[in-house]
Amino acid sequence: MNLDIKLHNEDLPDQLVLSDKIAIDCEFMGLNVERDSLCLVQISTGNNDAHIIKLNRETYHAPNLKKVLQDKKINKIFHYARADLLFIKKYLKVEVDNINCTKIMSKLARSYSDKHGLKDLIKEFTGNDINKNLQTSDFGGELTEKQLVYCAKDVVYLHKIFLNLEKILIREKRDKLYYDTIKFINSRVNLDLASFNTDIWSH
Ligand code: MN
Repeated sequence: MNLDIKLHNEDLPDQLVLSDKIAIDCEFMGLNVERDSLCLVQISTGNNDAHIIKLNRETYHAPNLKKVLQDKKINKIFHYARADLLFIKKYLKVEVDNINCTKIMSKLARSYSDKHGLKDLIKEFTGNDINKNLQTSDFGGELTEKQLVYCAKDVVYLHKIFLNLEKILIREKRDKLYYDTIKFINSRVNLDLASFNTDIWSH
């Protein structure tokens, strides 16, 4: 696959036109939102392209990116939106609506499997084996070519995975359940931000 990777410093360029359905992923310094900052945001329009924005971690000044994130007309596909949105809310301080999450879709659609990682979904729906070894690398400094390719691969397959999962959800009559469930995503993230991390519905 030929990837069209563009690295942007601090923000998306002015006048860049994306599509009305974009895939988004983020890289952080670690998994603790209080301690670890948001380093990168990657966006794909679904045409083997990846815009990788290396954020200014002092200011988080990125008006073009924030405008895209806040645009309710743009549908945003994440894989595990819960984590990405937690860091986006904390560091970019924007509200994001019109969200899909392929991990939640997979849990509802693929009840024949207990593997809902991005690597598993890429394998099942595209046949590609991706290497997640760089998942735990340092995204805070200068990025290597390998890191850029790794980051790009986290977004370029999401459109295809979304379409495949949506097909299963519709076939199995679980699409309404999914679309009802995903409405809760911002509440789930707000609960996380308020340190209610466990399942509040459990006994
Ligand atoms: Mn990633």
